[in-house]
Amino acid sequence: DGSDRDDNTQVVPPVPLMSHCRGQVALHLLGGHRDQLTVTVNAYQAHSDQPCYVLGSGWVSATTGGELAALATRVCELPGAADIPPTEAYRFTTVQKAWIQGRDGYCRFPGCQVPADTCEHDHLVNSPHTDPTSDGPTGVANGICLCRTHHTLKTARAWQPTSPDDAVTLHWAGPGGVELTTVAAGPLSPVRHPD
Ligand SMILES: [Zn+2]
Repeated sequence: DGSDRDDNTQVVPPVPLMSHCRGQVALHLLGGHRDQLTVTVNAYQAHSDQPCYVLGSGWVSATTGGELAALATRVCELPGAADIPPTEAYRFTTVQKAWIQGRDGYCRFPGCQVPADTCEHDHLVNSPHTDPTSDGPTGVANGICLCRTHHTLKTARAWQPTSPDDAVTLHWAGPGGVELTTVAAGPLSPVRHPD
């Protein structure tokens, strides 16, 4: 009899999001063993009242983000992409890497879920330092995050990416004429912050 249904209703506690659990674990590690343990948590927060993005974990609340920042030994204020100039060097600068990671979130190969902060930083258009026939600058518009496996595939020219919009969108051309597209999905991606 359907009228009895309400008697069976149980109060189920809400299931916490995995990203929240990971944020709490990071907080516990940072707060509980400061003398013995170094924990690297690469997190991005646009404003103190907005959610915080932890690379490799996902979004955590503004409160958790604030707690992470309060425990961190290093907090950087990143300039906008337009205010990070390219350099003549081969290696990306620390600020360039931080921005590229924040824009990408993950390895930029289609479907790859390796977090950006464990990826390598690759020149989309080859640097003249490694390819005298190329002129790719060392700047955020020409830098992409690739895990080691997919960096190797690109270097071997098995898959070749091109971008119409400073590495926000990547069109990958693979063996047999296969074409796939990825869009930068990290917390700093222009896709998340349209002007
Ligand atoms: Zn990858």
